[in-house]
Formats: sequence, C-alpha cells, structure tokens
Amino acid sequence: MSDNQAGALVVFIILFMFLIVFSIWGSLVFFGIRAAKQKNRSPHWMWFGLHPVGALIIFIFMKVAQPLKICPKCAQKSNVAAVVCPFCQTPFAAAPGAAIAQGAAAAPAGASPAPPRTS
Ligand SMILES: [Zn+2]
Repeated sequence: MSDNQAGALVVFIILFMFLIVFSIWGSLVFFGIRAAKQKNRSPHWMWFGLHPVGALIIFIFMKVAQPLKICPKCAQKSNVAAVVCPFCQTPFAAAPGAAIAQGAAAAPAGASPAPPRTS
C-alpha cells in the first residue's frame, strides 16, 4: 500500500466516524423532540441538544420523565400527581394508575396455605 492510499484510507475512516457521530447526535435530538411531544413537555428543551452531551442528557430526561397532565378546561399543563388543576381548580379524572392499584388489591392474593410444620 502506497502512502497515498494510506492517507486516503485515514481520511475515509475519519469521515466515516464523523458520519456515525452526527447520525447518533441527530437521532438523539429527533427522538428527544418526539418523546417531549408525546409527554406534553416543551420540545424547546432540545435546544440543549446543540451540544451532543446536552442532546444525550435531554433525551434521557425525556425518556424517563412522566407525561404532564393537560387540564381539559384551561389547557394548562400540570404535574402527573395533581388531583385538581392548579390554575382553575378543575378536578382531574381518576388516574388510570389508581384504578389498576385498586384492581390488584381486589384480586385474591392467591391461596397460599401455611407450610406444613416439621418436628
Ligand atoms: Zn385548568
């Protein structure tokens, strides 16, 4: 392999690595914005994604964060755990999580007879 070919190979590898880094960075921003919209959070958080580390941090936050509730009356966003809207005091419908918890409590706890005593 001549020096010319080796140089071309190095340039190709560097360009290839840039391509990989930029495509990962771009997809973090893209999927971060999508996750933010799904969770009623502002997609403008992704401006931190102008730096690749910011993109990673905000992407992880958007994936982990719970979706915000939107008030049916005043359309303001409020905390997941809110029972009434903090802006107009409209009560939110019962959270689906609560219904699941009640269903689990109502279900029989499984017949587990006491283990036979030995000795
Ligand atoms: Zn409201």
